[in-house]
Amino acid sequence: MTAQSVTILGATGSIGTQTLAVLAEHPEQYRVFALVAGSQWQLLAQQCLQWQPRFAVLADDVAAVALRNHLRDAGSDTEVLSGAAAMAQVAADADVDVVVAAIVGAAGVRPTLAAVEAGKRVLLANKEALVVTGQLFMDAVRRHGATLLPVDSEHSAIFQCLPALNSCSEVRLGGVKRLLLTASGGPFRTFDAQALRAVTPAQAVKHPNWCMGPKISVDSATLMNKGLELIEACWLFDVAPAQIDVLVHPQSVVHSMVEYIDGSVMAQLGSPDMRTPIACALAWPQRIHSGAERLDFMQLAGLHFEAPDVARFPCLALARQAMEAGGAATAVLNAANEEAVAAFLAGQIGFLAIAEVVDDTLQRLGPQTCRDLDAVMAIDQQARAQARHYMAQRFG
Ligand code: NAD
Ligand code: MG
Repeated sequence: MTAQSVTILGATGSIGTQTLAVLAEHPEQYRVFALVAGSQWQLLAQQCLQWQPRFAVLADDVAAVALRNHLRDAGSDTEVLSGAAAMAQVAADADVDVVVAAIVGAAGVRPTLAAVEAGKRVLLANKEALVVTGQLFMDAVRRHGATLLPVDSEHSAIFQCLPALNSCSEVRLGGVKRLLLTASGGPFRTFDAQALRAVTPAQAVKHPNWCMGPKISVDSATLMNKGLELIEACWLFDVAPAQIDVLVHPQSVVHSMVEYIDGSVMAQLGSPDMRTPIACALAWPQRIHSGAERLDFMQLAGLHFEAPDVARFPCLALARQAMEAGGAATAVLNAANEEAVAAFLAGQIGFLAIAEVVDDTLQRLGPQTCRDLDAVMAIDQQARAQARHYMAQRFG
């Protein structure tokens, strides 16, 4: 069997580095075609020297110059490129088999769609790309015959609990009553409104069960992550928001469930380690070692479930409403959230203001319809400007 050629979009992040850790367990089965990152050229340089990809791409031109000089001095053959067009090119190249979409935020939309349009096997971690483009994304998957496999642990769980499929584009939900999306509840699950008002970025990025990038960590703390995942599940599995229930499950051992009309409930369990869903998507329908710890049932103190509290965590309700509203509302939700989370991480707004900014932006921009990607990205920009304007007026 010839080795599969892999491009990783977002190689230096939490998912990107864990993907490389899984690939390292299987050197005969996979080789790296291209590594893509934002601006962290030093880590990308180390990865290039270890993996010797054909291409390394950075979003940032200045960082790309530094990387090019560094790799040249180290005698590396990796070609360094920069910018959005180069990212799309290494995602769509005829020599690529698998694209791991792990850029954070709407910045991943175009390169991920480029992989889809080239009919690749696309391992989707970048949930924002799907939240922003929704129907356009799924239409492109079907039109171009791409194989779409979820990396998000909840969606990987649901995918594994459904009748055997080769791709999300094949989903038929005969007999399914509802999807049960589990949520850890984040680091502030037990905080009251008063305590939530005072939480800091440092507290928010320290997740109890998972080690993730700063943006998704804040999303987990507000429960916006679960809201984005609810939207992601609607598109991946072709269900309405009303068919998805969110369950808070602080141990993060049951990664999600599917309930069937006969009363049967299928769950997927495992230790909270993203290498499991990454390995699952890489090899599907085969199974390969991931390096993750085995789940030790004797060590489990118990499995606990509770309802999410949307009064303390309104982002979950906002996401559900945006999906129900349809059109570009989910793109507006995502853009406002990205701006608000960035402002929170920069110490410019408080934790509770994140939901306030998203709510205000959604109310002002509402559910517009958009026919193509350019229209969606224009709404994304409009929503960002509106969210920044609101924050400057209210907190500036
Ligand atoms: P991260 O912040 O650790 O990494 C983000 C990666 O994207 C980095 O490599 C960064 O260089 C790159 N990047 C940022 N802006 C870019 C740009 N403009 N152009 C090109 N590259 C850019 O984030 P993460 O935790 O790895 O999450 C990545 C994605 O996976 C997110 O969409 C997140 O929601 C999703 N996800 C993550 C986890 C997890 O456990 N970390 C779990 C499920 C889903
Ligand atoms: Mg998840």
